[in-house]
Amino acid sequence: MATSNAPHRFGTNAIHAGQSPDPSTGAIMTPVYLTSTYVQKSPGVVIDDYDYARSKNPTRTALESCLASLEGATHAFTFSSGLAAMDCLLHLLRAGDHVLLSDDVYGGTFRQLDKVFRHLGLSCTRVDMTDLAAVAEAVRENTRMIWLETPSNPMLKVIDIKGVRAICNAAAKITRAPSGVADKTLGPLGTGIKGPVLVVDNTFASPWLQNPLRHGAHVVMHSCTKYVGGHSDLVAGAVMTADKDLAARLKFTQNAVGAVPSAMDCFLMLRSLKTLHVRMERHCENAMVVAKWLDKHPKVAKVIYPGLKSHPQHALAKKQMRAFGGMISVVIKGGLKSSRRMLERVELFSLAESLGGVESLIEHPAIMTHASIPAAARAALGIDDGLVRLSVGIEDVKDLVADLDRALK
Ligand SMILES: *Cc1c(COP(=O)(O)O)cnc(C)c1O
Repeated sequence: MATSNAPHRFGTNAIHAGQSPDPSTGAIMTPVYLTSTYVQKSPGVVIDDYDYARSKNPTRTALESCLASLEGATHAFTFSSGLAAMDCLLHLLRAGDHVLLSDDVYGGTFRQLDKVFRHLGLSCTRVDMTDLAAVAEAVRENTRMIWLETPSNPMLKVIDIKGVRAICNAAAKITRAPSGVADKTLGPLGTGIKGPVLVVDNTFASPWLQNPLRHGAHVVMHSCTKYVGGHSDLVAGAVMTADKDLAARLKFTQNAVGAVPSAMDCFLMLRSLKTLHVRMERHCENAMVVAKWLDKHPKVAKVIYPGLKSHPQHALAKKQMRAFGGMISVVIKGGLKSSRRMLERVELFSLAESLGGVESLIEHPAIMTHASIPAAARAALGIDDGLVRLSVGIEDVKDLVADLDRALK
């Protein structure tokens, strides 16, 4: 990397941040450090903190620096899955604490809180966070964390991160002091943060489309399985923050709980990040073309895409995001029967869960990703039986449109 101190822009950081040619050979790519331990010169005398690979691995260190740079964070921590990253964050909390979630959070996010952490004494409620008054109303004395996804899944609601942070600040005055903590100067999580910690799951946007920390989030979380990995070949997660105390707690938990990613997966992510900005540009371009085309199709009842003027938070999306992303939700006329037929007929779009890869995917939320939500709750969220979710890939968009055209005929 250049030695001048001039700050670099996103595309440059995506390729270079945290990385430099290997000093022993000049290898330009960061090696995959397949090692579990490191030799010490004398007991306790280690090189650059490297003593055991759960605690630190050079391939992971390079990846974490690169990710931190792309999110405007000072620290990043990576995990073996997005849900493992969430688990690390929830370990910041104590029995009796309450978490406020956006109403259509990723199913696995709700499941972890509801089925794992509820037994450990956490409670949670879901609220439509496009309604800031409802968010303020739902904050309780013991609310320690507000967790939101924007754009959300699959309704692609866009939530005002700055607005929710203002609610966290106001809540700092009402949230009760943590019990059992001797040091009264510490906030709820044993950190300097007073009031609820604001976590933004930035998976759908990727660091290229929005940087939640710049809008007031305390923590950003990613399922790197999606756009960060981008090639549907790994499962991983990440957490980033610019709060020093929070970072110290997260670093402790990452090592103490131990759900770290393999060196090979770290290498794959580092390699993927080098094209993140280029991939995202094409994802967004293609999605805009597909959304506009679907919007005019006679068999389509509704297109949900933050880039369309008809989207209820289009103005906010324009302000908060660099572009509108690669995800589209669409309601096909004729409900389950016609949406099922469409899904069986697509050839280029693969019928599969997950998203964010270079190849286009299509799925049916009511039957696939959101089947665990009771029908009435699904209906309340707007997850219609005719709703289809598209993860628009970076293929030639003319072929994508032709595929959808054929499937809808
Ligand atoms: C996939 C996903 C997760 C979970 O991540 P895994 O890597 O599958 O554990 C969390 N949040 C969102 C928005 C996701 O799409």
